[in-house]
Amino acid sequence: MRDRYNGRHYLKFWMIDMQVQSDICVIGDGVIGKTAALGFAQAGLKVSLLTPSSVVRGPIAADDAWDARVYAVNHVAHALLSSLKVWDALDLSRVAPVDSMAVKGDGANASGALTFDAYGARVGTLAWIVEDRNLNQALDAALKFASNVRIVQGRASALQVDAATARVQLDNGDVLSADLLVGADGGQSWVRAQSRIDIDYRPYGQRAIVANFACEKPHQGVAYQWFSAVDGVIALLPLPGQRVSLVWSAPDALANVLLQESAAQLAARVEAASSCQLGTLTPLQPEVMKSFPLSLVRAHALTAPRVALVGDAAHVIHPLAGHGMNLGFADVAALIETVTARGPHRDCGDARVLARYARARKEDILLMQLATDGLARLFGTELEPLRVLRNFGLNLVDRLPGLKRRLITHALGKTL
Ligand SMILES: Cc1cc2nc3c(=O)[nH]c(=O)nc-3n(C[C@H](O)[C@H](O)[C@H](O)COP(=O)(O)OP(=O)(O)OC[C@H]3O[C@@H](n4cnc5c(N)ncnc54)[C@H](O)[C@@H]3O)c2cc1C
Repeated sequence: MRDRYNGRHYLKFWMIDMQVQSDICVIGDGVIGKTAALGFAQAGLKVSLLTPSSVVRGPIAADDAWDARVYAVNHVAHALLSSLKVWDALDLSRVAPVDSMAVKGDGANASGALTFDAYGARVGTLAWIVEDRNLNQALDAALKFASNVRIVQGRASALQVDAATARVQLDNGDVLSADLLVGADGGQSWVRAQSRIDIDYRPYGQRAIVANFACEKPHQGVAYQWFSAVDGVIALLPLPGQRVSLVWSAPDALANVLLQESAAQLAARVEAASSCQLGTLTPLQPEVMKSFPLSLVRAHALTAPRVALVGDAAHVIHPLAGHGMNLGFADVAALIETVTARGPHRDCGDARVLARYARARKEDILLMQLATDGLARLFGTELEPLRVLRNFGLNLVDRLPGLKRRLITHALGKTL
């Protein structure tokens, strides 16, 4: 009896757990989850967005504080972000267009090369390099003013789905109910596991190391990539001004060495591996180096009853093509389109609506998984015949305009 009147028990006894009912409940507050929440809200649906943290990102600081986490954003993502009025809310002075791409292999005498440019692809720009923080701030600002979104803080602890509703119980006792639950909770998705969607998981035995540098020579809007079986994949992406962002997908043993070295040592290694393409590289201040383990995650299904997966919850791919998040944006665009076109007699989580979404995304995801996984394997082997073959392949594609255009079309995420 005494327990009922002391401390937490007493409080809990009188507190009524919160119940939030919406059309759509999005679990996960990464870029993809926030974009989905905003998109559904702007389509006139009632949305709840579960966020596990109370971290408030500060404004973008001094000019030299560049986020080491950047994304190459393609045309599909650009179109979606523009339609949601997020693109114009970015600090566009910190966004760099990619005018061309130069891919180099590891053939004898530096042979094996492939270039793409915006002119050849008949577009103004191939892609845009955007900092993670810039993107999140624009999304946060848009969500703040979106009238149909309720942002709920907490951790999901149980999922119950019946014929009419998906119900998420939070660890504080609150409950979120919705017609459709959107799992946007990343590569280790809780929603996916709760929905008993199996996955194929394969670690690449590599870590991606990211850091930003000032470059001595202008990059001229070129995104460079060097492939090598020994060093992995080194990408230098253009940032505004004479700055570049490094994504080095290095085999684990090399990555461990790189992570113990200073940013200046890393810069010297990148200069050497890139044959000083951009002259001397100098770490940007403050020096930030981050690393991410790389793996392939293939979900056996994109949907379960009243559940749809988007973004890394649905697929994790090697970053060598810079397309993981772009696939996620395309998921969101397709899900919003199928849900809003569902017709008057179906709710948002109707099985036929979800089946349409899964069909719409299947091919695009599979092709990107096959392409990135194939390239990662092909360039991950030191076998001489395969080394010759891959470099021959790069040169061949470079000389076949038709094939090259098809590849660019897919990379841009648009029909040319
Ligand atoms: C080095 C590197 C470079 C890359 N470069 C590119 C690029 O250039 N272009 C590109 O398109 N892609 C790129 N990618 C891929 C891209 O980073 C991912 O695809 C993207 O970040 C996935 O976003 P997401 O919102 O789906 O998942 P995440 O960013 O993982 O977000 C998931 C969110 O869910 C939250 N969450 C997790 N569990 C729960 C829970 N139980 N309850 C509530 N919330 C939860 C997490 O806190 C997190 O905020 C790159 C990846 C790497 C590693």
